Formats: sequence, structure tokens, C-alpha cells
Amino acid sequence: MSKPVSLVAGNWKMNGQRGSWKEIDSLITKIDKEAPADCEVLICPPLTLMALFAVDASQSKVQIGAQDCHQNNKGAHTGDVSASMIADCGGSHIIVGHSERRADHQETSALVHDKAVSVVENGMKAIICVGETEAERDAGDAVKIVLDQISQSVPSTATSETVIIAYEPVWAIGTGRTPTVADVEEIHTAIRNSLIDRFSSDGAGFSILYGGSVKPSNAKELMGAENVNGALVGGASLKADDFNGIIDAYR
Ligand code: PEP
Repeated sequence: MSKPVSLVAGNWKMNGQRGSWKEIDSLITKIDKEAPADCEVLICPPLTLMALFAVDASQSKVQIGAQDCHQNNKGAHTGDVSASMIADCGGSHIIVGHSERRADHQETSALVHDKAVSVVENGMKAIICVGETEAERDAGDAVKIVLDQISQSVPSTATSETVIIAYEPVWAIGTGRTPTVADVEEIHTAIRNSLIDRFSSDGAGFSILYGGSVKPSNAKELMGAENVNGALVGGASLKADDFNGIIDAYR
């Protein structure tokens, strides 16, 4: 039975210019000098920076990925970028189904599923995001919503080597609010059990990240929760010291 790989992933969203390289450079120096035990590190900058960062990070332990992709490999899709193009630029992972894309671009779980298939077919890992809104949590529906998203977004061909799940309660993203450890464990354990039901023993090997207002001061507690195998980090990934402070949970 495979063991989940721990991963701390940074999602820069629509932030960063070429000068942001100094943040990556200082992070690479810190990580390569004091590597976390059994934990991978990934940065997903905007696409304008991805190829540049991927070349510069290629000799380091930091991996570079993207925040989204189109579900097709090529064609008449103005403004879109495919998974094959991201692989060509040196990307190792692509985030799909982030709640901001689900909300801003009306992305459905069916579309997220097709994007994840394309990521995997292009030899990368898909980080599939799921999470409930505050109203859904207040209505007592958090577990149901998340498991529905998992069943519709995760392809039947997924394996623990190719797909990573990120549980990100929508109300915790960028708000400074986090669920209790017990609430995180409830959802992560429900996700784990659903993966085992669907993928048998390989379900135990999928990495399940927590995302939503992770920072250095709460990382150790959240990363220590049952069935939590790392973090997807937004705001705190923009500063090398903060991101490195989160990675400290694995040192
Ligand atoms: C995110 O958007 O994936 C995220 C987790 O953001 P933040 O860490 O800023 O809450």
C-alpha cells in the first residue's frame, strides 16, 4: 500500500512580475540548504512567469506548476493554454477546479474532470480542488458537497501517483479564518474513505492537501491533522519567509 507524499504548494494567483524572481531565488536557497523531510515543494506562479521560473528552478528541489489549463491539447481557444503547453514549459503539476475558477468562470465538476484527464495524459500531476461555501457548511452539507465534487471531478483513471486532492473550504480562502482541526479531519477522513471505496488500496496513497488561510503560525497544527498530507497556500506563498515558515512544519 503506497503512502501519501507530503506536498506544500504555493498558488500565486494573479500576482507577481519578473522581479518576483528574487522571492523564488531566496526560497530555493533556503529549501536547497535545509530541505524538509519527506515533503515536496511546488510553486504555481502566473503563466507569464512559469517558463522562466521552471528553467531557473530546474536544478533545485522546488517544482513549478500552473494554476489552470484548457481541457483540450490544442485548437481554436483564444486566450487559453493547454496542459501540453505547460508540460512543454517544464511544469510538473497543474491546479484544476480552484474555487475562484469554479465561481469566476462557471467551471463545473465535469469540466474540472476533463481538465484533470488532460493534465495526467500530458504526464503531470493534477491538483483537484474541492470545498464547500459558508452557506453549505452552515446548512450541514459540507461533507456531502465535497464528496459530490470528488466523485464528479476525479477521473476514474486517477491514481495516487497522478492526482492530488486539495480540500479548500471557500470561506477560508483569503479570509484569515480556518476550520477547527476536528472539522478538517472530518472532511479529510471522508475524502480518504471515498478514495478507498473507489480506488481500493491505492486510495490510501492519494495526497490530500488542506488549503485556506494557512500561515506559519497554524501550519504545524493543520498539517498534523489526520489525513492531511500538506497544504495549498495562497497569500502566504507570495513571501519567501512566510512560505518557508509553512514548510517548517515538515522540518
Ligand atoms: C488558495 O486560494 O488556494 C488559498 C488557499 O488561499 P489563501 O492561502 O490565501 O487562503
